[in-house]
Amino acid sequence: MGQKLLKFVSVEQEMPDKRPAEERRHDFAEIYARFDPEAAETQASRCSQCGVPFCQVHCPLHNNIPDWLMLTAEGRLEEAYELSAATNNFPEICGRICPQDRLCEGNCVIEKGFSSVTIGSVEKFITDTAWERGWVKPPKPVREHGQSVGIIGAGPAGLAAAEQLRRKGYQVHIYDRYDRVGGLLVYGIPNFKLDKKIVARRHKLLADGGVVFHCNYEIGRDATLREIKRSHDAVLIATGVYQAKPLEAPGIGLGNIVQALDYLTASNRRGLGDPVSETGLDAAGKRVVVIGGGDTAMDCVRTAIRQGATSVKCLYRRDRKNMPGSQREVAHAEEEGVEFVWLSGPQGFAGKDVVQSVLAHRIHLGVGDASGRHTPQVVPDSQFSLDADLVILALGFDAEDMPKLFDEPDLEVTRWGTITADAKSLMTSIDGVFAAGDIVRGASLVVWAVRDGRVAANGIAKYLAARARQASSLAAE
Ligand SMILES: Cc1cc2nc3c(=O)[nH]c(=O)nc-3n(C[C@H](O)[C@H](O)[C@H](O)COP(=O)(O)OP(=O)(O)OC[C@H]3O[C@@H](n4cnc5c(N)ncnc54)[C@H](O)[C@@H]3O)c2cc1C
Ligand code: SF4
Repeated sequence: MGQKLLKFVSVEQEMPDKRPAEERRHDFAEIYARFDPEAAETQASRCSQCGVPFCQVHCPLHNNIPDWLMLTAEGRLEEAYELSAATNNFPEICGRICPQDRLCEGNCVIEKGFSSVTIGSVEKFITDTAWERGWVKPPKPVREHGQSVGIIGAGPAGLAAAEQLRRKGYQVHIYDRYDRVGGLLVYGIPNFKLDKKIVARRHKLLADGGVVFHCNYEIGRDATLREIKRSHDAVLIATGVYQAKPLEAPGIGLGNIVQALDYLTASNRRGLGDPVSETGLDAAGKRVVVIGGGDTAMDCVRTAIRQGATSVKCLYRRDRKNMPGSQREVAHAEEEGVEFVWLSGPQGFAGKDVVQSVLAHRIHLGVGDASGRHTPQVVPDSQFSLDADLVILALGFDAEDMPKLFDEPDLEVTRWGTITADAKSLMTSIDGVFAAGDIVRGASLVVWAVRDGRVAANGIAKYLAARARQASSLAAE
C-alpha cells in the first residue's frame, strides 16, 4: 500500500481537463473530459487511507471510497467498479453532478493546503470504463417472485428502487408522466453537466433486466393511486417536487418572465431534437436576468450563455459564501461570462406587455436565525434597476397537493406538502404504499434520491416477504 498510496504529499490535485470557457460557451457538451487511466491511478493514489474516512461518512450512500480509490491506484479497475456499484446504482451520474465540495471531497481529511482527492472524477472514470468494457450488467435475479411493485416516477429515486427490487426478483412496473425516463436528470439538469446518453443507457439496462416502463402515464389523470395499488402488491411514490415557489411583486404578470423549469425543459427538449413551440423560452439575443442562487439558477444562467444571450446576470439576495448552489458551478458560470449581482433582491418588474427591466434593492445580511442563516434585510433607499428582455425565476420548488392529485385523502403529508414516511422503511400512512426522493425530503440532491430509493426498496422487500409468509401460513391452516 505504501508504494501506491499516500501520494498527496508529492502529487498535486488535478481535475480532468476542462474545456476552455470560450469554447464551451457555444455548445451543450459536457465540460470535463475523463481521466485517462494513468491520471486516474495517480489521482486515486493521493488518498491518505485515513483511519476514519470522513469522505465516506459524508457521502449519503456511504460509498466505500478509500477502498475503491486503493483498487484504482493499483489498476484493479473491475474490482473498484464492483465495490463502487455495490452501494450506488448510478456512480457515473453522481461522479458528474454531486456537489462534491459539500459532500465527500469537502470532508477529505488530507491536510489543508494539499487539496482533497478528486473523488467524484475517479468515481466517474471507474464506471464509464466499466460501461465500455461490458462490466455493467442488467439486473438479473437468481429467483423470480410472483409479487409485483408499481413505482410512480422514473427519476433517480424510482430508478434506484426499481433496480434493487428487480435484483431481488420482484416484477417491477414504473409509471411516468413524461415521455422519457430519468425525471430531472433528463428534463431539469442540462446536458453540459450530464449528457442525456448516460441516462438513456441506464434506462435500457433496466428494461433489459425486465423492468417494465409505462411512459406518458400520469397518476391522477390516467389512474388513481388506489387503482395502481390494486394492480400491485406494493407501490412506491417517487414523483419529485414540481411546484415553483411563487414570487409576488408588481409586474410579475408581464410577458417573458418565465419559470426556471419551463425554460430548462424547453432547452433540454431542443437538445434532444423535440419540437419546442414556445419562442419565449429562448435566450438568444436577449438580456437575461435569473433570480435565485441554487443549482437551478446556475443551470439557467449557463444555459442562457449557450443560447447566445447578449448578457446574463444572476440576482441573489445573499452573498457568494451563503449561496446554496455549488461553488464549483458558480466558478464555471463566472468563467463563461455570467455576472453575479450579490446581496440584491427583486422588488418588481417594469415593461409594457413584456418585461423591460427588473427593479431591485440591495440587501444586508442581518443576525442569524435559529438555523444559523443570516436573515436578509432590505437596505433603505437602495433601489436600482437592471435591463432585461427575459427574466427567469429560479426560487425553488414545493410539493404539489399529493392527496388531491392522487385522490387519496388518507395520504398524510407534512406542513410543507411533502409525503410523511417512516424513517426506516419509508412506508407512508397507507399500508403497502412507500415514498422516496424529493417528494419526501423536499427539493434535494440526486445522491439522496438514490439513497432513498434503496432504503424504500429494502422496506418494500421486507413488507412483501412478510405478506408472502402470511399468505403461505394461511394456506397451510
Ligand atoms: C434544474 C435542476 C438542477 C439540478 N442539479 C442538480 C445537481 O447538479 N446535482 C444534484 O445532485 N441534484 C440536482 N438537482 C436535484 C435533483 O435533480 C433532484 O433532487 C432529483 O432528481 C430528485 O429525484 P426524484 O427521483 O425524487 O424526483 P425527479 O427526478 O423529479 O423524478 C420524478 C419523476 O416523477 C414523475 N412524476 C411526477 N408526478 C407524476 C405523476 N403524477 N404520475 C406519473 N409520474 C409522475 C416525473 O415526471 C419525474 O420523471 C437539480 C434539480 C433541478 C430542478
Ligand atoms: S456519490 Fe456523491 S458524495 Fe458519494 S462519493 Fe460519489 S460524488 Fe461523493
